[in-house]
Amino acid sequence: MSEQTFSSTQEQLLGLFDSLMLAYGHQHWWPADSRFEVMVGAVLTQNTAWVNVEKAIANLRAADVLSAEKLLTMSPSALAGLIRPSGYYNIKAQRLRNLCLALLEAGGESSLEALSTSALRRFLLSINGVGPETADDILLYGFARPVFVIDAYTRRLLQRLGMVGEKASYESLRSGFEAALPADVELFREYHALIVQHAKQACARQPGCLSCVLIDTCPSGRDQLMTV
Ligand code: SF4
Repeated sequence: MSEQTFSSTQEQLLGLFDSLMLAYGHQHWWPADSRFEVMVGAVLTQNTAWVNVEKAIANLRAADVLSAEKLLTMSPSALAGLIRPSGYYNIKAQRLRNLCLALLEAGGESSLEALSTSALRRFLLSINGVGPETADDILLYGFARPVFVIDAYTRRLLQRLGMVGEKASYESLRSGFEAALPADVELFREYHALIVQHAKQACARQPGCLSCVLIDTCPSGRDQLMTV
């Protein structure tokens, strides 16, 4: 397999999904009360753990500023203070402001809802501070579009399972999942959440292969166990 190849078949990907679902069950993602909160969370979760995002969102909720209009009434420094628990708070405050301004300029959520998935993705990616993973989080969990989210956990797991090459790009992984699987929003939502859960429970940077549910199909895991 080339280093840039996504070589997984539908059978392999659905088999992996079934194994993860059996091990961890439904994850009930994305934990948010509104689409706007999903959008905010997708920015705040950049480079930090979700537990920190929860604290920042709780601050925004307590201050009653969880809408684009209200959030833009705050000064950047006041906003940064509220989202401080999520880390990189000055940068993220500016990114949230960019997102809110773009959202309002575009006519709000209902105008975005009317866009095709590819047009909506282009719009999100045009916002300073919104990269592919953030845009795809918003598309999948905020706008219920069948777009597969790729994160570092997904890349690491598939590489260890020998299902993708080491240098496969974000786009090749995303389009690979989307081409191989049925365009099912609930499947994509659950799949991404299960991969994150598996990364936390077993396939961490230092993997716990001995008790991993995927050990029978994982070449990297078998190599790890042979060195123990
Ligand atoms: S066997 Fe080890 S490397 Fe493979 S998926 Fe499980 S934890 Fe990750």
